[in-house]
Amino acid sequence: MCKHVLNAQVAIRSHCCKKWFDCAECHAEKEDHPLMKKAEMIFACKKCKKVFRKDGTDWDESDEYCPYCDNHFVIDALTPKAELRVEMEDPRIDNRALKDERVAGEGEKILFSLHDQQASKLG
Ligand SMILES: [Zn+2]
Ligand SMILES: [Zn+2]
Ligand SMILES: [Zn+2]
Repeated sequence: MCKHVLNAQVAIRSHCCKKWFDCAECHAEKEDHPLMKKAEMIFACKKCKKVFRKDGTDWDESDEYCPYCDNHFVIDALTPKAELRVEMEDPRIDNRALKDERVAGEGEKILFSLHDQQASKLG
């Protein structure tokens, strides 16, 4: 569970530094290089702790569930930022959203970009 996506159901393994992250923002905070995105994604289910791979280019509804325990892991990210929207316009959020867009891969809208979409709505 990370502070950005409060309801994260899986951890995702980054291709660049081979570490586990709950979301793209955790990677951005801990590492000083851009997140490498590939079609193949490696997940670890937080419910059953099993690791599985998914191909982001060939994604259908059944791929939103953990193959081991059926945990539905592709969900709308519950982020603390949603609260910020009403209170203030935080310029840092916009900057981060722009940065994330630049590294986002084509057609890869699962999980890593769920959060980005949320952020770009703010701007
Ligand atoms: Zn990395
Ligand atoms: Zn995070
Ligand atoms: Zn599972």
